[in-house]
Amino acid sequence: MSEYGITIPMSGNRRESILCSLDEHKSPIPRRSWGEAASLLGLDDKTVITQADLERVHDPAYIGRILDPSPGKEVLVKLIMESLELVNEDGTYNRYEPKKAVRPLRELAESQIYRCTGTYLALKIALERRGEGPYKDFCFCLGGGSHHPRYDMPSGFGVLNDPVIGVRKIMAEGKASFVWIIDVDAHKGDGTAELIRFSRNRGETFSGKTPEVFTLSAHMASGWPLDEESLAKAIPGRAPLLESDIDIPIAAGEENVYNERLLQGLLEMEARSLPRKPDLALVVDGADVYEKDGLPSTSCLALTLEQMLERDHLILSFLQERGIPSGWIMAGGYGPRAWEPTANFLNSL
Ligand SMILES: [Zn+2]
Repeated sequence: MSEYGITIPMSGNRRESILCSLDEHKSPIPRRSWGEAASLLGLDDKTVITQADLERVHDPAYIGRILDPSPGKEVLVKLIMESLELVNEDGTYNRYEPKKAVRPLRELAESQIYRCTGTYLALKIALERRGEGPYKDFCFCLGGGSHHPRYDMPSGFGVLNDPVIGVRKIMAEGKASFVWIIDVDAHKGDGTAELIRFSRNRGETFSGKTPEVFTLSAHMASGWPLDEESLAKAIPGRAPLLESDIDIPIAAGEENVYNERLLQGLLEMEARSLPRKPDLALVVDGADVYEKDGLPSTSCLALTLEQMLERDHLILSFLQERGIPSGWIMAGGYGPRAWEPTANFLNSL
């Protein structure tokens, strides 16, 4: 993000570091660009996400603002600045030094819709079993995971909620009627919870008694978006107050029971889904729970590399043993070592 003058400790080369590590370990996992992944499915990565896909999930008036036709993308740039909290209430800049920018914020704005592409492609490759070897029904996208954007507003470094946009697009194609979203980022998947609730309220995702999208979020019990300041400003019936179908709040010092509680959550999700079995799962595989993550505000949930490997294998084997295909996305991860847990997991396959 430093190229845009933004001083949030996001490592711009997280994806490259993971790919380097896979090369060094001679990983047999095939790597594809999003363009190549799209061609594999007979699609064009530049046009695969449409306005209808965005309006299926977010408020159409909000999407109208995002599709800002002005050459400078002024409305969208403003939304990006809002999502990254770059402007304080008194108008001064927060974590933003525009003089140090070498690229315009407009470019970051223009990438927002394309960011949903990888999430959708990962889900589709998994669902159509286009993966390789023993992992035919598994695909990991080195991107995606913006799980805070809400129905009609940006939040938490994002403008569009790619997890829900990807899932609902797959469902709209008639390829999956019941999907689990398993979110293990350090932060609560509050935008996802809101969007799924709202679509259910519109009567769009209910078949009988079973929700068509079931959400699970394991996250820090306190800290943004559940910190005192956010909760004081929260609007009833909106994120972050809305619950996921299963929330697993992890308090500081509970790292040693994290995986045990996650397994309990997965078993509960399975029991509450019966008699149905999901056609597909999306795993929001945040790395910001890592003890060496660079975001100071997530330090109260600090898993070791070994605990994270156990977490990821727990989820993958839970799904594979039940024959449930899964698309995975990176989500949060900050600082120079944020690539390590994802690389460690992929190298273990
Ligand atoms: Zn996060």
